[in-house]
Amino acid sequence: MAIIVQKFGGTSVADAEKIQRAARRAKKRADQGYQVVMVTSARGKMTDHLIADALELNPDPCRREMDQLLSTGEQQTVALMAMALHSMGQPAISMTGFQAGIRTDAVPAKARITNIEREKIQAQLDDGKIVVVAGFQGIDEYENITTLGRGGSDTSAVALAAALEAEQCEIYTDVDGVYTTDPRKFKRALKIDQISYDEMLEMASLGAGVMHGRAIEFGKKYGVTIHVRSSSKEIEGTLITHEVPKMEGILVSGATIQKDLAKITIIEIENHPGIAARIFANLAKARVSVNDIIQTEISEDIANLSFTVGKSDLADAMKCIKKIKSDVNYKDMFVREDIAEVSIVGIGMRTHYGVADKMFNALAQKQVNIDSITTSEIRISCIIDKDQGDMALETLCTVFELDKEPEDREM
Ligand code: ADP
Ligand code: ASP
Ligand code: MG
Repeated sequence: MAIIVQKFGGTSVADAEKIQRAARRAKKRADQGYQVVMVTSARGKMTDHLIADALELNPDPCRREMDQLLSTGEQQTVALMAMALHSMGQPAISMTGFQAGIRTDAVPAKARITNIEREKIQAQLDDGKIVVVAGFQGIDEYENITTLGRGGSDTSAVALAAALEAEQCEIYTDVDGVYTTDPRKFKRALKIDQISYDEMLEMASLGAGVMHGRAIEFGKKYGVTIHVRSSSKEIEGTLITHEVPKMEGILVSGATIQKDLAKITIIEIENHPGIAARIFANLAKARVSVNDIIQTEISEDIANLSFTVGKSDLADAMKCIKKIKSDVNYKDMFVREDIAEVSIVGIGMRTHYGVADKMFNALAQKQVNIDSITTSEIRISCIIDKDQGDMALETLCTVFELDKEPEDREM
């Protein structure tokens, strides 16, 4: 029997009416003959409220206890969802991450799924039940509850779809699909019908909060077709899939902005083999996720090294760099928090030229100063002043015609 995984985000399960709507969607699939696994987030802003509760009692809460607390948000939703399904005459059972056999590494607050014991869910499916699994959580080898990072329920869903070899993973959310940019920031943004894993991965890691980046990694690795769609409208959304030939023709698929970033510059490190390796080994040990890295040689003996991190990792990163000062022998450390990163993403960039030129020109015409630039084969990112961020994003969307269907664009 074919399996389908349906994930419902926080706003899509915010109250009783929305829970019932989600339950009806799942039941409809069950009635069509599918085995259905639902993955749900905490209701509405529950996770934010739980974080606020914790911080009221302790400004620096222990991460284990934080995970223990935050996982309860999702646990409430799954039980309520199962009750809603029961009231419709649909057999269903809720499961926490632990009960569903979702194993993770032992890194609280940003755990990675290492294994899923598929038999636990499969047995319930074979018993005719819809299985409602709590997103965002798992269990580590010491039986501590772990969470997967904010927005991590997407990753639970796609990982389950991979483990269960599901036909599709549907991500139900409060937008109709993936847009060329966040439709809340650029009203004329357009829905994308189909996007490649690679582009979506870049967009997610560069600030497109509609999908959790790790979810796309799982999707790509295991070939899970992901369908991002509206939980309130019965319309097709966006398919995230392997690359298909027509995608090459689209120069820029999307634009993003990231504002919760900080840039650390280490001034005058020794320009010798092994120094960068030592710095990043220490950052990895401190569980800091580093985004872009730029090293510039100043002379034969000295170099400057900059990297960006999410604001939530800044304190750990600074502590780590201070700790290794005598070891790597740098002169000073300089931190910028007033930055934003604007990016354009598109696999068409691999085969076209003139994209960087067009991007930098557009920013220059709006008097936006570029602090630093990083690129990959399919993206260009610029760090700029935060207060110019929204204006810069709108400029890029207009210049790259992200408000027009691909076939109507001039470039
Ligand atoms: P959920 O609670 O369902 O997981 P999220 O808030 O995590 O929902 O993700 C949906 C939100 O992502 C949208 O409301 C939208 O503002 C934001 N978003 C950011 N970038 C994009 C994009 N490129 N396309 C669509 N939505 C985006
Ligand atoms: N509830 C978690 C969060 O708010 C996980 C999720 O919604 O995906 O980040
Ligand atoms: Mg989300």
